[in-house]
Amino acid sequence: MENDDQAQEAEQWKKKYLDYLEESERNEKQWKASDELLRKTISRLTLAADGLDDTLDQQLRDLRDAIRDHSSTAQLRGHIDDMSKTLVRLDQVGKQRQEKTDAPAPATTEASGGFLKRLFASASRRSPASTTLSPDGAVSGANTVSGESVRDILVRLLERLTLPDEFSQRVDHIRSHILKMADGEHWDSVLGEIADLVQAIRAQSQKEKQGIENFLKQLGERLQEVDRQLAQSESYYDDTLDAGQQLDSRVQQEISGIGDSVRDATDLGQIKQVVQTHIDAILTHMAGHREAEQQRYDDAKREIAVMNARMKDMEAETEALRSRIDEERSQAKTDALTGIPNRLAWEERLEQEIARWKRFATPLVLVMWDVDHFKRINDRFGHKAGDKVLRTIAHVLADNVRETDFVARYGGEEFIQLMTGSSLEECLPVVEKLRSAIEATGFHFRDERVTITASCGLTAYRDGDTPDQCFERADKAMYRAKHAGRNRCVSD
Ligand code: GH3
Ligand code: MG
Ligand code: MG
Repeated sequence: MENDDQAQEAEQWKKKYLDYLEESERNEKQWKASDELLRKTISRLTLAADGLDDTLDQQLRDLRDAIRDHSSTAQLRGHIDDMSKTLVRLDQVGKQRQEKTDAPAPATTEASGGFLKRLFASASRRSPASTTLSPDGAVSGANTVSGESVRDILVRLLERLTLPDEFSQRVDHIRSHILKMADGEHWDSVLGEIADLVQAIRAQSQKEKQGIENFLKQLGERLQEVDRQLAQSESYYDDTLDAGQQLDSRVQQEISGIGDSVRDATDLGQIKQVVQTHIDAILTHMAGHREAEQQRYDDAKREIAVMNARMKDMEAETEALRSRIDEERSQAKTDALTGIPNRLAWEERLEQEIARWKRFATPLVLVMWDVDHFKRINDRFGHKAGDKVLRTIAHVLADNVRETDFVARYGGEEFIQLMTGSSLEECLPVVEKLRSAIEATGFHFRDERVTITASCGLTAYRDGDTPDQCFERADKAMYRAKHAGRNRCVSD
């Protein structure tokens, strides 16, 4: 019975061990995907800069080759350092020419304007719409538009990196640095900070991986020990069985000895004597057997106690590891600035909701929110105030949606919402209410009341839609809301 329990417990431990192995593999995959994404992004950004300068072109080709060959971070860093130097040189040449001629758009400035513009066009997911925003004054000159987009791309990139807490201060610092950067300020120090951060993240992830691997190794060793203990208790059982059989045959021997003696005895006194001797022998065998049994029992009990203590240790350690992994997982899906789910969480949830939509065909509505003239808030009150506004809006949205709905920060000043179980028509008054709630929220900056508004576009998931098509429709509807004067909701 006890053996069955132990075998069962060992089975449970083996299962836990396999679960952790799987979990560790999943984490590894996630890191690989992030790494791949970063490499792809860098590769894509380099394409935008091609054709400005021969040296830069060669350096960009080298960098792309290095990314394709999966070179080490240190090697990539070398390429990026070389490139930064060329960019600084190009920038300085441009400035000198501008100072000399005081003419608008000289060659290199045009080139760097073109570079930024192309960077904008290839990296932003909605470049055409951004240019069409110019008529109402949200966007000024081409250089500013492009400069902002590089900032946005970097800020977005930082937001997409889901990082453990210990990095959040560093990320905040870089984000502040980017948002505060004056036009024309060199990017090299910020890029250096980002490169250092990426390096530190990799080192940290390596350390974490090593930690989990060590733990799993330890767990494996302990499980082997449990296996050994189980084998040992099996041998106790065999010993008991042998000892029982031995006692049995000895008693049999004595009893048949009694029979023989009784048969051969000539007088009662002799019989008494012989029987007494045999009974004494039986009693001695039994006492010896009991003593050996007691010894075996004590040994087994001691070993079981040791095994139990080890099991408890293992359980506590596994529990600690599990809660750390759970915490990290939830951190990875939470936006550090606002505390609401982030884009990673959104992507996961969207996938689940689409699967549900396919099975049950209940309506699924996607809402894209974008804060109106947010740049002005940053410009007038500083980005710290801007951050506070983002936190407030995030909570107005998250606290006012139904429990089955979902709100995430998509990036920058954009939020995305999923509404389930209601048609597009039914969702419209709901998002209208959210829009007025944002408008009604009082934002106070140094005793001044500032109204903040947001626009949204919403669309229902349709038969044959890919997630991207549905997203694009919501995004376009949101831009229609902007064109129509902002602070409104438009459905498609
Ligand atoms: P529109 O009404 O057309 O949406 O105008 P907008 O100014 O909101 O749009 P635009 O996309 O031009 O500017 C968005 C701004 O949001 C620019 C960027 O600096 C700022 N931003 C992005 N992320 C953050 C952030 O995390 N914190 C702060 N404070 N600002 C951010
Ligand atoms: Mg925006
Ligand atoms: Mg905006």
